[in-house]
Amino acid sequence: MTPANQPFGKILIANRGEIALRVLRACKELGIATVAVHSTADEDAMHVRLADESVCIGPPPARDSYLNIPQLLAACEITGADAVHPGYGLLSENARFAEILDAHGIAFIGPSAEHIRVMGDKIEAKRTAVRLGIPVVPGSDGDVTNDRAARRIASDIGFPVLIKAASGGGGRGMKVARTADDLSEALATARAEARAAFGDDAVYIEKYLGKPRHIEFQVLGDGKGGGVHLGERDCSLQRRHQKVLEESPSTVIDEETRQRMGGVVAKAVADLGYAGAGTVEFLFEDGEFYFIEMNTRLQVEHPVTEALTDIDLVNEQIRVACGQGLSFGQEDVRFKGHAIECRINAENPQTFAPSPGRIVNYHAPGGLGVRVDSAAYQGYRIPPYYDSLIGKLIVQGRDRQECLMRLNRALDEYVIDGIQTTIPLFGRLIAEPDIVAGNYDIHWLEKFLADPD
Ligand code: ADP
Repeated sequence: MTPANQPFGKILIANRGEIALRVLRACKELGIATVAVHSTADEDAMHVRLADESVCIGPPPARDSYLNIPQLLAACEITGADAVHPGYGLLSENARFAEILDAHGIAFIGPSAEHIRVMGDKIEAKRTAVRLGIPVVPGSDGDVTNDRAARRIASDIGFPVLIKAASGGGGRGMKVARTADDLSEALATARAEARAAFGDDAVYIEKYLGKPRHIEFQVLGDGKGGGVHLGERDCSLQRRHQKVLEESPSTVIDEETRQRMGGVVAKAVADLGYAGAGTVEFLFEDGEFYFIEMNTRLQVEHPVTEALTDIDLVNEQIRVACGQGLSFGQEDVRFKGHAIECRINAENPQTFAPSPGRIVNYHAPGGLGVRVDSAAYQGYRIPPYYDSLIGKLIVQGRDRQECLMRLNRALDEYVIDGIQTTIPLFGRLIAEPDIVAGNYDIHWLEKFLADPD
């Protein structure tokens, strides 16, 4: 066990793919030894090659390997790791995992189990937001269990309404009811889907917003009552409620609004005594913010914020977890230029069907303002067992126009042969007048995909 305020000696990275590599890079810069874990399907993965040590923790299915807590604990014991970084997804928002590590004297690089638990229950998270003075989407105060209660709430807030799973994530378990006639069926379907996906059929009701932007704020808490914000990311370009492209600054947020809302979320994080990185997600419509959830982990799109602020978020997470606090204060945060991230998935760019297989040619773009976070390489075989994200292209420029120009040429330069990827989709998107003008909401991409003309 590491004494308080001492840097960690060895960090086990409980993840795979590009995020395992991202964490590994921060550890190397800090001179901290790294342990990679992997399933038998990931023996040739880049994170395994680059880590100081590696441990095989089970067969390909994630539930038997990357989600296998006893195996991860054993890997910590064998290697003498004194901390675990969970990355995103997998066990990153599993309060029980954080508790078990703590009971074994191993630090979890993330917030307290209590904060993970509160924010993991979206009904509880909304109540907490209200208590902290954060505006939320109008809706039910808690779990909605029957048609009568659903009808009462829907008539209070007005149709259309959205039924959402309390344990939801990844955009699953959401159903829209446009009229009173749809309500009973939408409620039953949402509950059944939530039970199947999350083992919990608790659902709640929210006003369904017609044309919002998804605006989220990056926050960091020092765990000692201090909190900062690092501005917003606009993640409105989504397919099936999943983010596809993210940018900052948002074309609809001005400096006054950024500082005002940033101030609200930074204060909330401080009041909570929150430790580490988090993201407070909002829908933004007609000048108003509505809280939807808080993610208590590093996000896929965190490099967008790093590009604008030059702050290494993983480094800050590690500092906070070992009691060193943040390396900067709010007054040190400056935002420069514009950044856009494209999620490169191994998928057919039209049908979005997964496209695992061997990469026969690989060439990543480079040059000024271009960052590629990827664990892919020439000859790498993408296993079919995990999510399809194989890389992220993050481009920055002095302004949005320069950023788009640079993105265009970086996409052109990116070669991934042997499998299909979403690279061509981004080429099409940034040629669209609405995207060039920054004029899109959360429904724009679905409409574009349904009818590109
Ligand atoms: P998840 O945890 O499953 O990702 P979120 O609550 O974060 O669910 O919502 C994901 C996305 O679903 C949002 O970014 C937005 O596009 C859409 N969404 C969520 N709530 C609403 C709402 N009240 N009205 C309209 N769209 C919504």
